Amino acid sequence: MRAVLLGPPGAGKGTQAARLVERYGVPAISTGDIFRANVGGGTELGRRAKEFMDAGQLVPDEVTNAMVRDRLAQDDVRAGFLLDGYPRNPEQAAVLDTMLAELGVALDVAVELTADVDVVTERLLKRAEIEGRADDTEPVIRKRLEVYAEQTAPVAAYYADKGLLAQVDGLGEIDEVTARLVAAIDR
Ligand code: AMP
Repeated sequence: MRAVLLGPPGAGKGTQAARLVERYGVPAISTGDIFRANVGGGTELGRRAKEFMDAGQLVPDEVTNAMVRDRLAQDDVRAGFLLDGYPRNPEQAAVLDTMLAELGVALDVAVELTADVDVVTERLLKRAEIEGRADDTEPVIRKRLEVYAEQTAPVAAYYADKGLLAQVDGLGEIDEVTARLVAAIDR
């Protein structure tokens, strides 16, 4: 399986990605997780990404695309992958197509987890209390949702044009949502 998981921050992408990884036996590639690991580890990449992450903005495409290119070149990705949090704008989606073409593979599906803005805002504020992520403060959450609507939502249309988009209702019990995702992917 080669899939992209789309959806606003707080829609449950990370939680669902972990379950899909188990089911399909492919690695999840979360650009947000890779950035956070680099920030935590104090790497040069982390230093470049941090100011954008803290502001709720996208890390520049050149940085993000290069990081994904490296990750997709690793051996464990040969049998497939689930991208979580990438692509985040139509330019990244076009670059991903090029990278996959160079690897001689193609995407099977782009699944969009849909969720109401008020619900995801609430979830993110709750997650802020539990996980204490630096970018889970209310003004940054609002910015991230704005960035999503302006830059990332058009990625769904990009995949719809290619006949690859499946939309899944992200509201409900975690198991229920996983079942919907599996049904959409297996179709
Ligand atoms: P996430 O964990 O996916 O919500 O990502 C957290 C933050 O990492 C985002 O708000 C961005 O600053 C950055 N980030 C993650 N993925 C991308 C991406 N594909 N392009 C640019 N920035 C990203």
